[in-house]
Amino acid sequence: MTKLLEEKLVLENISVPGYHKVVRARDPRSGLDAIIAIHDIRLSKAALGGTRIHAYPSFNDALTDALRLARGMTYKSVASQSPWAGGKSVIIADPKRDKTDALLISFAEAVNLLNGEYICAEDAGSTPQDIGLIAEYTPYAVGLPHEKSSGNPSPFTTWGVFRGIQAVMFQLFGNDSVAGRTIAIQGLGSVGARLAELLFWHGAKLIVTDIHMDKAEGIAKQFSAKLVNPDEIYDEPCDVFAPCALGATINPKTIERLRCRAIAGAANNQLLSDTDAEELRRIGLLYAPDFVINAGGLINVTEETTKEGYNPFVARNKVDKSIYDQLRLIFNIANKNGISTLKAVMQLVDYRLQHGIGKRTEPIYMHHAGLKY
Ligand code: NAD
Repeated sequence: MTKLLEEKLVLENISVPGYHKVVRARDPRSGLDAIIAIHDIRLSKAALGGTRIHAYPSFNDALTDALRLARGMTYKSVASQSPWAGGKSVIIADPKRDKTDALLISFAEAVNLLNGEYICAEDAGSTPQDIGLIAEYTPYAVGLPHEKSSGNPSPFTTWGVFRGIQAVMFQLFGNDSVAGRTIAIQGLGSVGARLAELLFWHGAKLIVTDIHMDKAEGIAKQFSAKLVNPDEIYDEPCDVFAPCALGATINPKTIERLRCRAIAGAANNQLLSDTDAEELRRIGLLYAPDFVINAGGLINVTEETTKEGYNPFVARNKVDKSIYDQLRLIFNIANKNGISTLKAVMQLVDYRLQHGIGKRTEPIYMHHAGLKY
């Protein structure tokens, strides 16, 4: 408290077992109150993860979210063979009301004080423009609106989801083809709408929904898809249910309604809880763990930090291979050991962390800032 009276940015370490570093950054001049969490640094000295700006009801809620998200980033990075520690930051502020330049600049200064241990990026509540402003005050930011940027992640996420669905097809039917298969897409935003188009051109039959029914209607017409109301999608017989809207849509109530053979979609945190993965295994419904199948955006942005710099061709090829191969591996581990696919990926990630498999060997390049470390 005494320090805060000094009217400057203060970083305070919070000790959290199992986390490399968690700091609270406060600056009374701008009103900044933020948390930067770095989870596991065994495979990389630097953590990458988005900056979420949200009006959390309390500091503890923000801390819980930051810890959960940073840990999730470790799993996502390691599972997708992206050499990062898991990191995440949250700024406790209403993005519509409290997001000022001063707030973002204070945050940038906090990121700077960590000397590259944490690299920020866009997330819920922050925009590429916000990260662009932050990057004027710290080199440790990716996904910026400049010519060396990896740009919009959604096409890469979508391609990863498509390749994930192909891996699911192989597991279910012994070949990758989606032709003639029925895929139900929940949510037709940046990813869901693109996914519908890709699947259409590869011969799939579609069932679609969105809370914005006008949007869903247009897409249904364009791709001869069956249009259903948002709550009806769970009851539709199909091969794959692809959640591409919000989290927690797979829960005990929806699982008993699902009439699909597999779940494979872009949404983050699809399961309400980890025990849902056990139930899916018990009833023989194949689940492509969300943080593996939706890692295309992370793989894409990682390319910005390579020596050669961003190249969409290289990024496309990495997304193409990694997501398909990793899912096939996870499905095999799950099958062989009679465990859920979620447990299989957790075991795989823990094994890689323990044995240093996939450890970063190259420096990190921040081309926009002329920095290598
Ligand atoms: P988006 O906001 O562009 O689209 C989400 C769509 O879902 C919207 O059209 C919205 O109207 C619809 N929706 C919301 N609630 C719904 C409901 N109950 N039923 C049906 N539709 C509903 O988001 P996006 O970028 O397409 O991402 C989709 C999901 O994938 C999100 O969970 C996101 O966190 C995750 N994800 C996205 C990316 C990416 O690169 N865009 C990367 C990783 C994960």
